[in-house]
Amino acid sequence: MRRCPSGAITYDAPPPDMIFRRIQTLASGFADVSVLLSPTTERDAPEQEVPLAQALAGGHPVRLLDLSDPDALCDALYDQATPPPLSAPVLPMGNRRQVARLAARALNPGAETLPLPAAAPYGAVLVNEDACTLCLSCVSLCPSGALMDNEDKPQLRFQDDACLQCGICATICPEKAIALVPRMNLGDSALTQVVLNEEEPFACVECGVLFGSKSTIQRITEKLAGKHALFATSEAARMIQMCENCRINAQFNATDTPFAAGPRPRVRTTDDYLSKRKDH
Ligand code: SF4
Ligand code: SF4
Repeated sequence: MRRCPSGAITYDAPPPDMIFRRIQTLASGFADVSVLLSPTTERDAPEQEVPLAQALAGGHPVRLLDLSDPDALCDALYDQATPPPLSAPVLPMGNRRQVARLAARALNPGAETLPLPAAAPYGAVLVNEDACTLCLSCVSLCPSGALMDNEDKPQLRFQDDACLQCGICATICPEKAIALVPRMNLGDSALTQVVLNEEEPFACVECGVLFGSKSTIQRITEKLAGKHALFATSEAARMIQMCENCRINAQFNATDTPFAAGPRPRVRTTDDYLSKRKDH
């Protein structure tokens, strides 16, 4: 890395974590960051990163220089208007996501949320509460732990700063209730769990134990009761609204129980065997 007298920084080759380093450098007091692409550098990746870096940089220029002529490079660095550096620079600490967030906060004083370009690795998920049945499939597949449940009641929670915007939750949601919103929440709410949807649990019609959620049980009852061969009678359909213990109990005691077998055959003994022999 070389320090340019104009106040810009140039990298001989863009590192893989270019965005992270650009933002960190600007937040720590540099006025401008320019990345010099070497002739062998793949252009696609750094060019795709520039819109995200600019969205986080709060108006500070983040440029790629694709120049092989030394004179043209000198002109590009000296001729540009260099903005003033941050008046209160910071030294962001933590992992990369924490550093990027702290740097973006320093570069965008007063901003609560920064809209980011599509496919940015920071953002929120929006849940359509009317469509969501709290099946929690999204929680079990979220790779970063951004989506969480609550052990005590049917509840879907979300922590903004952990979301990678990978889209797995939106893909897996059977109700298509999830939408991704690329953004960076700079407020303290990004670090806390917020409730996206919640509901009262369903009470077992037999013993009153709480299980599942009301909307899920109601929806399953509507779809299966009287329509599926296994739930054709009202007694069988009632099992949908029972907890797992009561359901097994009811199945075991039903007249058409699947656990029932014919009368047990008498145990065959040696006497039975010998009585049938012709030599006795
Ligand atoms: S958002 Fe979709 S996957 Fe997540 S709990 Fe609701 S219905 Fe299930
Ligand atoms: S987009 Fe990915 S990281 Fe974010 S909540 Fe959904 S599954 Fe989790």
